[in-house]
Formats: sequence, structure tokens, C-alpha cells
Amino acid sequence: MRTETMTKLKMHVGFDDTDSRRGGCTTYVAALIIEKLRKLGVYFTDYPSLVRLNPNVPWKTRGNGALCLRILCDDQLCDKVKELAVETVEKESDLSNRGTDPGIVFLEGEVPKEVEDFAERTITGIVTKNEALKLIKKFHAEANGYNEGRGIIGGLAAIGARLRGDHTFECITYRNKENRGTPRRIDESSVIIMNKQLEPSVFNNVDPETGRILITPRGPDPILYGIRGETPEAVNRGHEIVVSYEPVERWVIFKTNQGTDAHLKRAVSIGDVRPYNPVVVQGEVATQPRIIQGGHVIFRIKDNTGSVDCAAYEPTGVLRDVAMKMMRGDLVELYGGIRPKSSKNPMTVNIEKLRIIKLASLQVSMNPLCPACGKRTKSMGKGQGFECPKCGFHGPHLKKILFEIERPIKPCLFISSPRSQRHLTKPFERYGLEKSENSAKR
Ligand code: ZN
Repeated sequence: MRTETMTKLKMHVGFDDTDSRRGGCTTYVAALIIEKLRKLGVYFTDYPSLVRLNPNVPWKTRGNGALCLRILCDDQLCDKVKELAVETVEKESDLSNRGTDPGIVFLEGEVPKEVEDFAERTITGIVTKNEALKLIKKFHAEANGYNEGRGIIGGLAAIGARLRGDHTFECITYRNKENRGTPRRIDESSVIIMNKQLEPSVFNNVDPETGRILITPRGPDPILYGIRGETPEAVNRGHEIVVSYEPVERWVIFKTNQGTDAHLKRAVSIGDVRPYNPVVVQGEVATQPRIIQGGHVIFRIKDNTGSVDCAAYEPTGVLRDVAMKMMRGDLVELYGGIRPKSSKNPMTVNIEKLRIIKLASLQVSMNPLCPACGKRTKSMGKGQGFECPKCGFHGPHLKKILFEIERPIKPCLFISSPRSQRHLTKPFERYGLEKSENSAKR
């Protein structure tokens, strides 16, 4: 027996980019690894984390989510843990697909501050694989990459994202193999009941504008449904209430940065707006909004450093409607991702949220009333004054009258409809429910 000499080791297992558009899902790979590690007898020190990275990077697959498992295990088990994780990633990844670039990273001990900072940059901006590799070397972490191995970036970022500040939870359920690729069979009315019963401790289950159920994805991936909420208890309760007509193969509760606006941290002036970065930017509306093909609305904003096009896409619903009502001179704060310049379009802010800070006044001018009979006068031509069509009164010194018209919108915050929100977008329901580092401590 060597039990006396056995020490417990902290280990973080981060991985990313095992999926492709053809199917698969990195959270499902996590579910499989978790089961294998539990059988091995390791102790999980936290919920598995699902970390959504900058949604605007050009090479993402779908949701750009990376995973991390944090465990405590006997040091003799370490190699076995790594072996199981690597084996599962290799088996479950769609390696034949160009653009699927899995990576897996192992870090022992405490998470260094530099790795935490790296994670922050991966969520709010653009990082390179080289930066990840340097950190991996510096802190004696281990990494396995496949194809381009870009998943190493997400793997390390998932390790560094501790989710100690604001965070949420998602209970994800998975389908049996034979059902994948077929329409998902769940009782929609049970989702509406669940949502009514549990909100605001669950969010984004139903689209309020269309009544559409949002918990089921559409694609060929193994996810049956996911329920998002504030606590593990709430999402677990939601999972108990939802009725499924097909078997649930397995389910996992993830701790996540979804619904926290974690990507929207960079406030910049318009001159500093860069492609692919999520930004918060203030400016004055410089052009009247126009509708382009597809029903999208475009307008331009400016500040003293420059100007940039902004787009509210048709599926963003209420956001697109309010964008249509913008006027030259309105002061707005926009939250969104930056699409680079293309041959057809200039660099554009894809709006996720729009805050109206100040509305320009909308004035209309009308001809004055006739002082003699009260009828509305007619203009005699520029600088010629006004004449009454009824009594013939001529007033060479009469002036047009300005009226202030009430705008159909008020200064407040508008968010894209839940059906078109990014995973990271903080929905209205979550405002005021944010967790801070202290409230998150138990
Ligand atoms: Zn008159």
C-alpha cells in the first residue's frame, strides 16, 4: 500500500473546437469525459465550465464555446486522467472536417493570473495561438492540438476563465444516437409552464415576441435542449418540469458566462473600432437610417475621432424597429461586434444592444394662420411673406411657425430579441441579478 505517500493534485482540463457544422458538440465531449473521470474516482472542485469566447472571431464554429473541468485527484491518477481526456477528444472530434481544430490543455495547481488575463482577452478581443503556446510553456501546462490546433486557445482560455464574477448556469440534455438529426420531440407547453413557474431564475426559454420555444437547437448536434438560469437548482428544476417524448441520454449542469455581457467590456471611441472586436461605442447619429436588402437597417454614427456604419439585422426584432426611428443628431451608445470592411460594405458595427442617451428634437414648420380670419396662409415665395387664400390678407412680415413633435421612442436601452441574441448577450431579465465576486462565494 502506498496510500500514505499519495498526494492530491489540482488539475484543470480545458478543451475546445471538437465540433463542426456537420454535428458534434464540445459540451457533449465534456459530458463523456466527466462520466469517465467519475468512474475513475476523481473529485470535481467546481461545476464544469462552458466559456463563451468572443463571438465575432472569423474562425468560430457555432457558439464559440470552450470547456473546462476542474478536478482534484491522486497524483498517480494524473496520467490516466490525461489519457482518458485525450482519447475521448480524439474519438469524438470531427477530425476529418477542415476547420475543426481541436485542442486540449492540462494545467496543474493554481491558475496563474496571466492565464486569467489571457482568458479575458479571448472573450473580449482577439488572441493568437502563439500567445497561448507561450503561456503553456511558461507555466508547464501540457497541450495537444489536432489539425490547426486552434482549440488550444479556447482550452487555455476556459482554464483561465474562473467565472468568479457574474455567471449563470445551463442544464444541457443530450439525445440518443438514433434520434440525432431528426426533429426534437419535446412538449412545448411544458416549456411555457416551466418558464412561467421559474422566471426570473431561468431566462431565454421562450421568445416573448413570437412565443417560439428557444431551448432546443435546430442542427444535427446531440443536444436535446438547454435550460439557462441563475442557479444550478433553478436549471435542474427546469429540467424536471420539461416533458420530453424522446429519451434523454445524459445531462450536465454547466457553469457559464452566457447571458453576462462578458464580451462587451471595451469602451472605445469610433476611431479605435477594430474588426472582430466586441465594443461599446458612443456617437451621434450622422445619417438617416436606411433599409437594405433583407430588411436590415443601416445608419452611421460619428464622434470627434471618426464615423462608422452600424447595422441592426432583420431578426433582431425590436432593435431593428428602434434603429429605424433614429434621427440625425440622436446620441446613442451601441454594443456589438465589428464586421470588417468587405468589397461591398465598409466596416460595420453589428448592433446587439442600443442605448438612446439623448434624442434630437423633431421639429416641423407650418405656415402661420391668417391674423384676420384664422385660415392657414399660403407662402408667396421665398422672402415674400404669406397670403390668406380666403380673405386675401397679405402679411409680408409673417414667419413660419415651428412645432416640436414628440418622438415615438424614449431614451432607454434596447436589446436584440432573445431569438437572435448571442450566447453572451445579457438579456433584460438578468439586469439587477448580476453576481459579484463576493456574492458568488459560498
Ligand atoms: Zn384671412
